Amino acid sequence: MEADVAIVGAGFSAIAVAVHLLRSLPPEASIAVISDDPGFGRGTAYRTEFHLHRLNVPAGRMSLFPDEPNHFLDWLARQGRAVKAGDFAARGDYGLYLRDTLASLLRARGQRARLDFVKAKAVDCVTCASGGPTFALDTGERLQASAVALCLGLGNADLPLPPERCSTAAMPRIIANPWRLGWLSQIEPEDEICILGSGLTMVDQVLTLRAKGHRGQIHVLSRRGLVPHSHAADPVPPLQPALPEGSLTLSRLLSALRAQVRGGAEWRAVMDGLRPQTQALWQRLPQAERARFLRHALAWWNIHRHRIAPPVHRRFAALMEDGTVTVHAGFLSAIEPAHEGVTLRYRPRGGRGQMRLPVDWVINCTGMERAGLGHSPLLSDMAARAMISLDPLGLGLAVDDRSQVLDAAGQPQPGLFAVGALTAGRFWEITAVPDIRVQAKAVADAMSGIAALARGKAK
Ligand SMILES: Cc1cc2nc3c(=O)[nH]c(=O)nc-3n(C[C@H](O)[C@H](O)[C@H](O)COP(=O)(O)OP(=O)(O)OC[C@H]3O[C@@H](n4cnc5c(N)ncnc54)[C@H](O)[C@@H]3O)c2cc1C
Repeated sequence: MEADVAIVGAGFSAIAVAVHLLRSLPPEASIAVISDDPGFGRGTAYRTEFHLHRLNVPAGRMSLFPDEPNHFLDWLARQGRAVKAGDFAARGDYGLYLRDTLASLLRARGQRARLDFVKAKAVDCVTCASGGPTFALDTGERLQASAVALCLGLGNADLPLPPERCSTAAMPRIIANPWRLGWLSQIEPEDEICILGSGLTMVDQVLTLRAKGHRGQIHVLSRRGLVPHSHAADPVPPLQPALPEGSLTLSRLLSALRAQVRGGAEWRAVMDGLRPQTQALWQRLPQAERARFLRHALAWWNIHRHRIAPPVHRRFAALMEDGTVTVHAGFLSAIEPAHEGVTLRYRPRGGRGQMRLPVDWVINCTGMERAGLGHSPLLSDMAARAMISLDPLGLGLAVDDRSQVLDAAGQPQPGLFAVGALTAGRFWEITAVPDIRVQAKAVADAMSGIAALARGKAK
């Protein structure tokens, strides 16, 4: 199978690259999309149909197109949804918006549009030569294209526990991946649950459980016991952050921002003002400082930066207040089988002893895997063959500033790009729509250029 350009994956990053390719490629060019994911463009984030699963970015910043900020808002208005720019729309609606936008672009290109969805997993990169990469698919076919974008997202994180500390007899009571549908049907209304991880995924799962009629006690265990803050009910405009002059270190950066907030600036406005500059600041920080940030500041960064919609926060806070949800700060040390469930052992933060927590179920909500390539057999295999390499912090793929994938010798692989959170080592702030859409457009433009050159040579 051959295509001018190809995309591997079918989440937001893939659809964003696809729509920008449809806009930039000549009509006769062919695009192949490889994925065994059923809902193209929805990925884990936007396939939910549960209304309280809201976007955590205001609707006015969720357009697919960086240069058309009202595109999503206009779509919502056409659907009769009363959503304003500062509101947090339903994630399911966002999935429908992505699907509709792609469909209308395809209609606009008419019969000549060639976007082929290939239902398969990419299992191997056979070559990455000057003519572009060739991938082997699990259907036995091969796909060759002059340029390919890897839009693989991140896998679900493993349990925060070495395998020998988690008894196999306890495994049936552990939901390792809450994004796999169907697990909720196993939970009885009165079951006691422990959720591992206290971030956005945890909040999502708590609200889903309650909506499905769960009435039992929910424990939340994470190393610091920090839960995400709410967005402001009445949004404040972003503030220009006060950045230190001269060389940049993590402590100089943090103390400048803290001083600004102590001086009266609203912290959310400072965080929002920082956002457009985060990628550049990350690249200015020396490698050792980036590592310090990941070790010491990440948990605080996450709760301030990845905030939740006010109605979602209100619902969650009420469950904490009435004692339905209890958050524990501690370090998980073992999960053992118990009479009709499991017992968790953990060391409380700042304490020495071991606490025991007997529950019916454990749900792993420690989020997306931000530690390397092991979640993807395709990437692990490519790394073993030196075709790709880990970024120095081990967050994902090493890429250059055009998002072109680097091999083990640091050389750009011809025609091979990566989009989304896999590129966090270089860009850091690259997990959400406002950042991915900009990267997707730049990658689509580069891919179109490569495809045009290849077509010119072939004539
Ligand atoms: C629950 C949740 C809520 C979120 N809410 C928001 C929000 O409100 N606003 C926001 O801006 N961001 C949000 N995000 C961030 C979100 O990660 C991004 O917006 C975006 O959805 C990431 O898409 P992706 O395509 O990079 O990854 P994914 O959606 O994970 O897609 C990866 C795709 O790659 C495919 N794949 C993997 N390996 C292979 C292979 N070998 N061959 C073929 N296909 C493969 C998978 O099947 C999947 O289709 C949320 C994330 C989550 C998890």
